[in-house]
Amino acid sequence: MRVAMVSYEVYPFAKVGGLADVVGALPKYLERQGISVDIFMPYHKKVDENAKKFGYVIEKVSESIPTPHLLTEEKFDIYRTTLPGSKNVNVFLISNKYYFSADEVYDGPDLAEQSIFFSNAVLEAIKKLSFKYDVIHVNDWQTGLIPPYLKTLYKDDELLSRVASVITIHNLAYQGLYEPSYMRFSGLPDHLFNIDGLEFYGKMNFLKAGLIFADVINTVSPTYAREIQTKEYGEKLDGVLRVRSSDLYGILNGIDYEEYNPETDKRIYVNYNLETIEKKKENKKMLQKELGLPERDVPVIGMINRLVVQKGLDIMAEIMDYVSLLDIQFVLLGTGDKEYEDMFRKLGEKYPEKYSINLKFDVVLAQKIYAGCDMFLMPSRYEPCGLGQMYSLRYGTIPIVRYTGGLADTVKEYNPETLEGNGFGFEGVDSAHLLKAIAKAVYYYHNKEHWNKIVKNAMTTELSWDNSAKEYVKLYQRAKAKVQ
Ligand code: ADP
Repeated sequence: MRVAMVSYEVYPFAKVGGLADVVGALPKYLERQGISVDIFMPYHKKVDENAKKFGYVIEKVSESIPTPHLLTEEKFDIYRTTLPGSKNVNVFLISNKYYFSADEVYDGPDLAEQSIFFSNAVLEAIKKLSFKYDVIHVNDWQTGLIPPYLKTLYKDDELLSRVASVITIHNLAYQGLYEPSYMRFSGLPDHLFNIDGLEFYGKMNFLKAGLIFADVINTVSPTYAREIQTKEYGEKLDGVLRVRSSDLYGILNGIDYEEYNPETDKRIYVNYNLETIEKKKENKKMLQKELGLPERDVPVIGMINRLVVQKGLDIMAEIMDYVSLLDIQFVLLGTGDKEYEDMFRKLGEKYPEKYSINLKFDVVLAQKIYAGCDMFLMPSRYEPCGLGQMYSLRYGTIPIVRYTGGLADTVKEYNPETLEGNGFGFEGVDSAHLLKAIAKAVYYYHNKEHWNKIVKNAMTTELSWDNSAKEYVKLYQRAKAKVQ
């Protein structure tokens, strides 16, 4: 089985969000399952910066390849490097100075045009390289036009006509909605612009294009796969997803066990594991000290998030006066909407002994929070998979979540009778239920026998990529069977 994985972001070359982590990790685990994987990504300016910083060698493979289908023919070069930590995963970089010279990944001249160019260039690159893939696995809206290209302009191509396509939805809210005039630039047949095709309320929808034309669809957790077929979570694409429901799967993301390991993580104060769990307390003390919080044995609740409504901050806002009455400390790390930055800043000013508010992006402090806190709060309105709760479980920091998407698939309510469960949570959007979940966690924190058991359950929760990689292999087989 040979797979081409296509993504706008790949860790460690260019990362903006969770997409980069998934595409940077999954191929390593697929390789262990005997799958041969190549990655295709844009040669962003960031890739060069990171290559220089970390010493990755990038070589030129081919140059001046045209994109014959686009309205104005563009040219690109292909470069190659290897995915760090893999044996043989090639990373092919599509280079074009006009489109990919911006300082940040998503700051180029025209995102719609760039995505069309990239999608078409990947197919032309595969032709140039003469690689015979079984599956092309695309990710999110930026690569959503590849499936319709395959089913129309490339349907009689010798190399590409029998290639299956899989699209992974990492977040349904980001769809790539643009003016219909981009149809012309793409070279795709005009008749695709209709309600059963790429059209969406008068606009061109790049994600919908992928959802309609890919052979198989998946998203990053089983619960989110079910939720997005409902009106509440469907972002107006629930109808399309329901039509394709027999081809829609949910596969939970894993986390990188080597990078996120409290036993070896160099970013935290003191390393520990389940046997030496008392050392977690030292991390807590050092964190309190570094952040200027009183060094007391109270439950410390952490939160690391983009400060946006998706993360349930409006639900939180309603109860913060009550949370402030509890004998706890609260550590926030995040940036985002001014409204929420102001809310937290004010809390920090009002209760400096209780709140440490850190409005910045800081990966080292993030690790110290995962290691040093007792609990981790994630009351998201929706969460395709979520990484924060998985990292916190691995570091023995007990998640308090809203049971939605990947949070519902990874966090199980603690049951004091069976001693099973690794966290606390609530359903619905009633903030009183969030308050109750926090109070419940605080209650069990003070019962050391139960708490130790919860921490043990958390740290032994299976979150590695191995299982997920096996599920992806099955997904590729299903996709392949559809084009046989
Ligand atoms: P999303 O992809 O919706 O932002 P996830 O939970 O899947 O949410 O992933 C967020 C990742 O980004 C986590 O690894 C989290 O630790 C990290 N992160 C978010 N905000 C910050 C920040 N301000 N500083 C450091 N890391 C952050």
